[in-house]
Amino acid sequence: MLIAGNWKMNKTVKETKDFFSKFNKLVSKTKNQILICPSFPCIPAAKKSASAKIFIGAQNIFFEEKGEFTGEVSPLQLKDFCDFIILGHSDRRHKFSESSDSINKKIKASLKHNFNVILCVGETFSERESDQTKEILSEQLSDSLKEVSFSEKILVAYEPVWAIGSGKTAKPKDVFEVHSFIKSQLIELFGEKAAQTKILYGGSVKPENLKEIFSVENVDGVLVGGASLNPVSFSKIANYEKNK
Ligand code: PEP
Repeated sequence: MLIAGNWKMNKTVKETKDFFSKFNKLVSKTKNQILICPSFPCIPAAKKSASAKIFIGAQNIFFEEKGEFTGEVSPLQLKDFCDFIILGHSDRRHKFSESSDSINKKIKASLKHNFNVILCVGETFSERESDQTKEILSEQLSDSLKEVSFSEKILVAYEPVWAIGSGKTAKPKDVFEVHSFIKSQLIELFGEKAAQTKILYGGSVKPENLKEIFSVENVDGVLVGGASLNPVSFSKIANYEKNK
């Protein structure tokens, strides 16, 4: 299972080092894959301080390799530090008006440079209320993955926007249904080989609700925001053994 932490715009370099000085020991025995995605200035410190088994990722990337793109960070600049890139997070889609077209270009650039990509998709509360969840997810997947060739390096995170940072989590039966739907859409786009694609759940995951989330058969991991900031709470999630 992949247990991924998205630190968003939190932690300084010192706080990053302090986190790993505790966290490395707490997760030394886990068999899960662990990924932490700090904000850009903390990525080199995270890479240096994290134990070798912990993957480091970025929360965004730009699709060009270099040039006149003030304020952006390119795949070439991240290659020395990161194995994963989170793309299409709801913060990017909703707070920075990022389009699926831009996400699509970033996915292509990330795969070209051999990164694993976690593509986030999810519906807002009003979209859910008006029964548009499947339509929205289908659109986000097909637009973001337009003309992308299948790759095992593509992962999808289902993150209902209303569950992010809100303390609310989707019900297990809804997670199961949506993950199955996402899988069917991926198979439509890429063929049967996409059946192996990992699908993570994200939205207010914490040690207290982990058991419920991992009781869902087709949850291959989690993407965690708030609870990934504290080494003790994130280690409880990272050490979870699904079939025990
Ligand atoms: C996230 O940032 O992707 C997320 C799911 O946040 P939280 O766990 O805080 O809801």
